[in-house]
Amino acid sequence: MSEQQPWEPGVIARYLTVGGATVELVEKPDEITGNCNGCPDESHTFHFDPCCTGARMERFVTSQASQWAQAHAEKCRALPRPGGAA
Ligand SMILES: [Zn+2]
Repeated sequence: MSEQQPWEPGVIARYLTVGGATVELVEKPDEITGNCNGCPDESHTFHFDPCCTGARMERFVTSQASQWAQAHAEKCRALPRPGGAA
């Protein structure tokens, strides 16, 4: 692996895109957000369902988010913005 920025708190996963950008999943108390640092408008939010909390719900949302991230990483050819900081 090449050098990586330190992971910020809440980051649960990062995916390297085919273009060399990074898709990042960040967990918050009631949602997971996914951002691609190569695509300014590529941002998805996955909400935890308030009526169905618990580890099972969390796993479901996490898997939805990671599937999106994986799929985006496979087709994204945007280059990461120089300097990083999203
Ligand atoms: Zn992208």
